[in-house]
Amino acid sequence: MDTQSQVVDKLRSAFRSGVTIPEQFRRTQLTKLMSMIKDNEEQFLNALHKDLSKPKFEAIVSEIDIVINELHYAIANLKSWMQPEYVSKSLATKLDDCFVQREPLGVVLIIAPWNYPLHLLILPMVGAIAAGNCVIIKPSEISAATDGLIAELVPKYLSQDCYAVVRGGAEETKALLQNRFDHIFYTGSQTVARSILQAASVHLTPVTLELGGKSPCIIYGRIDVTAAAYRLIWAKFFNAGQSCVAPDYVLCSPATRDALLPVLRNTLEDFYGKEPQKCPDLSRIVSHRHWTRLMELLRRSSGKIIVGGESDEEDKYIAPTVVVDVAEDDALMQEEIFGPILPILTVDSLEKGIDFINRREKPLALYVFSDESSVVDTVLQNTSSGGFCSNDGIVYMTLPGLPFGGVGASGWGSYHGHWGFETFSHRRACMLRGWALERLNGLRYPPYTDKKLSW
Ligand code: NAD
Repeated sequence: MDTQSQVVDKLRSAFRSGVTIPEQFRRTQLTKLMSMIKDNEEQFLNALHKDLSKPKFEAIVSEIDIVINELHYAIANLKSWMQPEYVSKSLATKLDDCFVQREPLGVVLIIAPWNYPLHLLILPMVGAIAAGNCVIIKPSEISAATDGLIAELVPKYLSQDCYAVVRGGAEETKALLQNRFDHIFYTGSQTVARSILQAASVHLTPVTLELGGKSPCIIYGRIDVTAAAYRLIWAKFFNAGQSCVAPDYVLCSPATRDALLPVLRNTLEDFYGKEPQKCPDLSRIVSHRHWTRLMELLRRSSGKIIVGGESDEEDKYIAPTVVVDVAEDDALMQEEIFGPILPILTVDSLEKGIDFINRREKPLALYVFSDESSVVDTVLQNTSSGGFCSNDGIVYMTLPGLPFGGVGASGWGSYHGHWGFETFSHRRACMLRGWALERLNGLRYPPYTDKKLSW
């Protein structure tokens, strides 16, 4: 087996050979990637079930279909994305060709987390292949079944000279990062992102960071409580809350909270029944370590559990849980929850809710639920976040036309659709000049007389 640096060297020489440049090559590889997922859909569903007990429906929607859609979109648009982009010209450059040429960066590294182990590894890879790069993907060791399946299938479907899977945990990734890459695309926690940046600084490698944070859902003004509860509960407990864009906490007035609580309770029962542990539509926590972290947060919280709270360590199960009377300094408000626990905090006014959000790091997603467009508009205009969605959660990220990414501490850069192609491309400024108008050029050569300045 090749060592990590041999893998990087092999890909670098493939890149230098120019094999990834033609549109046809990129198109073929994207089509093969699509076949890899379609031919092995059942195996992927099994692996995702093994890793997270992912319900089939959630796995199809958020792992399989989202990647297939991205592939269709990239294949359909590849030709136009690759065209030079002509820019407007000045009088002095009238006769020149002035355009932006997208060129691949080289050998890029994509590091993914475990919560959507197929989606978060392969979706960025689509942009990287479309842009003409050679790619190393590093799946998460925590989602071991999906990680193993990807490592087995990628070499069977894609060019082994241009694309490789490197497996391993923190130590192997640190060793891999000692190699020189032309771009690093990292999805995961803010803590690990700091060591990624340190490693990247050695080679001055540009980095995209897709991180997390506490994404608020502010509910204010007139509201259809039933629809709000359905959409909120679905977005929060999809994948057992282990989504980077899950609503982390709710901010609302005391009156809205009181109206919402019985409906949330009923909605949870409608979705997951009286005994959620027996419901096949609820994922499990990915590992015992993560289960312990979440239970510890619940134990330290001084909030009041009004639904859920039950757990089973053996089964890595935590019931969908709603907590009220949560103070700003509560344990649940100190870090991203990333699990099936929903704290509800109250504020007296919309302005105080906005101020609460703005006193924290800019979140990855921000949700506002209200029938009043003035409320939606006020929140939109007075806050900042990676993405924004009114009257729903998480769905905004399924649209390839929208850039997906954070801002500030929730991430740098974006991808999905054309944005992914751009992330993995260098925008080369090109001016192709001839030798015409040399007399006009005389105006810029010394001697610099005042007459030349006044022209
Ligand atoms: P993680 O940071 O622990 O792991 C992510 C990847 O980094 C894995 O491949 C892992 O092997 C590797 N890694 C772990 N430690 C490392 C180290 N010391 N040096 C180098 N590499 C290392 O993240 P996680 O727990 O897998 O994911 C959870 C976090 O990811 C949450 O904060 C969540 O919000 C965020 N997330 C963000 C997005 C997004 O698209 N913005 C998507 C999913 C998850």
